Amino acid sequence: MSKSTILPVTNEHGYYEIRLESIGGLGANLCGKMLGELGALSLSLNSLSFSSYGSEKRGSPVKAYIRWCAGDKPLRVNSPVTHPHILGIFHEGLIGTYPVLDGVSTDTKVILNTPLPADEAAAKHHISLGELYCLDALSIAMECHSRVNMVMLGAIAKASGFIPLDAALQLCRDSIGKKYPALIDANLKGVEQGYSLLTKAEEDRNIEPLPTGGREHFVWGYDNAPIGGINPRIGSTVSNDLSPSREGYIPLFRKENCIHCGLCDSACPDMVFQFAPGEYKGKECMVNLGLDYYHCKGCLRCVEVCPTNALVTALEKDYPEKPDFLPNQEMLPDAIAYQTAGPNSWITSDSYMDEKRVDGGVV
Ligand code: SF4
Ligand code: SF4
Repeated sequence: MSKSTILPVTNEHGYYEIRLESIGGLGANLCGKMLGELGALSLSLNSLSFSSYGSEKRGSPVKAYIRWCAGDKPLRVNSPVTHPHILGIFHEGLIGTYPVLDGVSTDTKVILNTPLPADEAAAKHHISLGELYCLDALSIAMECHSRVNMVMLGAIAKASGFIPLDAALQLCRDSIGKKYPALIDANLKGVEQGYSLLTKAEEDRNIEPLPTGGREHFVWGYDNAPIGGINPRIGSTVSNDLSPSREGYIPLFRKENCIHCGLCDSACPDMVFQFAPGEYKGKECMVNLGLDYYHCKGCLRCVEVCPTNALVTALEKDYPEKPDFLPNQEMLPDAIAYQTAGPNSWITSDSYMDEKRVDGGVV
């Protein structure tokens, strides 16, 4: 048996630990399994990997944990990784919505999928501890026709400082090549690009971490709970911010093409469309005012059903600011206030404002 790789740092129990934070659909579960295999097969370490996810629903939060130690040390700890040496964040929108940065210390290497330059991302998300590495894994994956998880795998290998690129490529060949031989070249390219396009934030980042992650949060209690504890707004509550479920794409509304047929509203599972009484071609009807992106999970069903291309697929990163098709311009000050409260949430609408009024409020 070959000698174990010497781990550059371990915790007080002798373990090197990795945590991946993602949403269903981006492949963090597979990436975690692959890193588990890599530890055992390529690095000759004792290795453990397991994931935590709820309903296996696309878009729901997923965590993957990997734990390594020297080959001569037993590895019997199955608890989640709370203080990772490597933290891979597959979806930037999770920051501030879920506590994905918990446990980051000066020993942590954070690898973040973001279109932002590393220093800008550090300032935006108040990531003050550890080393921060960034790359636009989604764009790289689209260019290479690979999956985001392979790009992140390459990035994790590079940031670790001890996982050889060759080992990551071999792992990719072994995991994907047998099952999907047609996809192997694209995914190998994804691993390579993730390895080479990673950028690092300045070491000296004078940033105060925010206790709440910079996110407004809602407190429900005796004073503001609806009578009987009933949710009066079925399918749409003030707390169901679905923006972190999006995988980088949004439906873009081109109002001039809309014939107000309502098919998008029927197809949408999340009451995103804002219809109101109005007029179309001289007749009174319900007209489509636009989308409330707060509740949109980016499934793109509405794009599929729209008969006139009034809804098209767009890259979310191309629309970081409030688009000019905000349904109700009078809501602008609140929209901007909300827009600054978290990533990828640059629009609000009547329904959101009503919920704030009816259900209690924002603290
Ligand atoms: S399906 Fe398309 S055309 Fe019909 S209301 Fe929705 S956006 Fe407009
Ligand atoms: S992508 Fe379209 S159908 Fe899916 S949640 Fe968003 S608005 Fe609704």
